[in-house]
Amino acid sequence: MRRKLPLYNSIQTATTPLGKGMASPQVMGTVYIETYGCQMNVSDSELMAGILSGIGYYLLDRAEDADVILINTCAIRENAEEKVFHRLQHLNSIKRRKPDTVLGVCGCMAQHLRQQIIEAAPFVDIILGPDAYRSLPQAIHAARSKDPFVGLKLDRSEDYADLAPIRKDGVRAWLTIQRGCDKMCTFCVVPFTRGRERSISVPILAEECHRLVDEGFKEIVLLGQTVNSYQAGKHDFGDLLVTLNQVEGLKRIRFTSPHPNDASEPMIEAMANCDKVCQQIHLPLQSGSTRVLQAMRRTYTANEYRDLVAQMRDRMPNLSISTDIIVGFCGETEEDFQQTYSMMAEIRYDSAFMFKYSDREGTLAHKSLTDDVPEKVKIERLQCIIEQQYQISHQINQALIGKTVEVLVEGESKRSTDDFFGRTRSFKTTVFPRLSANVGDTVLVQINSATAQTLIGNIVSPGN
Ligand code: SF4
Repeated sequence: MRRKLPLYNSIQTATTPLGKGMASPQVMGTVYIETYGCQMNVSDSELMAGILSGIGYYLLDRAEDADVILINTCAIRENAEEKVFHRLQHLNSIKRRKPDTVLGVCGCMAQHLRQQIIEAAPFVDIILGPDAYRSLPQAIHAARSKDPFVGLKLDRSEDYADLAPIRKDGVRAWLTIQRGCDKMCTFCVVPFTRGRERSISVPILAEECHRLVDEGFKEIVLLGQTVNSYQAGKHDFGDLLVTLNQVEGLKRIRFTSPHPNDASEPMIEAMANCDKVCQQIHLPLQSGSTRVLQAMRRTYTANEYRDLVAQMRDRMPNLSISTDIIVGFCGETEEDFQQTYSMMAEIRYDSAFMFKYSDREGTLAHKSLTDDVPEKVKIERLQCIIEQQYQISHQINQALIGKTVEVLVEGESKRSTDDFFGRTRSFKTTVFPRLSANVGDTVLVQINSATAQTLIGNIVSPGN
């Protein structure tokens, strides 16, 4: 059974009372949580916030003021880890001023680099992997008694389904439906930091969705490492989409990140038929060369990926697609790279996250492949696809000028208090004069101009 939730609707601050409708637990202290990496980590930080609020911790937004500082980390790229090591040195200066401050490193990097953390940052009091957040109260208690705590056991049965996260205010809520990954991409450390796949049941997720709507959220984003490999008992990802589509009051459903191999017919049908499910997908390609895909163990060929995109576009002609690309993977030749370059031109992604490969200790590629593409070549190739993608994104957005799009209003634009911004169903950021619209409304906006990243327009039909 899912825990009856306290009616928090925002990250609590020390100046905000505890949730309505629940007895306030005794105040145990204050905590600051800093998050690095992907949306799964954002969602995990919300989970940690929920666990700690439940035992009487207030959440602060400044590390300097908190009794407990938790860094929720990412291990996917080396520079993310370097950033965290750097940050830890800074946080240690707080500990020197306030020696009772508890400092914890949580998440993927804790799982991946335990020894390096102990050596480089011996002042860290808590090291907790992604399956050990339940031990947070115990870990803090131990650390406050000057007893360092390490919790790194991966647990295939841990899905945290009975725990209540605390989410930030907004129109969009992140909902983890599945944890872990059973794929073994050779460049990726995730299967070793997050363990095996496990999914939360459909009834629990449906109940959570109803609760999110009651709290005022309009859009949910379903999260999983390979979100569409979701399988809970007899129910697959398509079933989950169909069920959640029936949640009254919910306006939009998205999901990230799917794996091309798990893009089943029921998933595509649900996307095409369910009115709340946005026809937008982030579908990681990684490389346009089948040879490189095989070296990456991506389990699909370039042509299979092409066929999948064609099948989805056949069912959803306006489908918006974004992707992830890695250039300079082990053994990538100029010809392999050209295949990636031309495949991106052929598919015409709305946007792409593009990276140059960097060797990660603990991955299968680190053990068995050679990182043999010179750095200079990696940089040139990356630059090349970034330039091409910029042109494509710009052209796709320019083609929307004069068209009317549905926008979910998210808040004030960064540039002007007179403007609102929101996202289209295809997840494009759109800016427009606010007029009488409210945050959380869906409005129709006619597009007047566009850059590669943003659409600009005017409301032509008020919100609901
Ligand atoms: S599918 Fe591949 S890239 Fe994605 S988390 Fe799993 S191993 Fe990593």
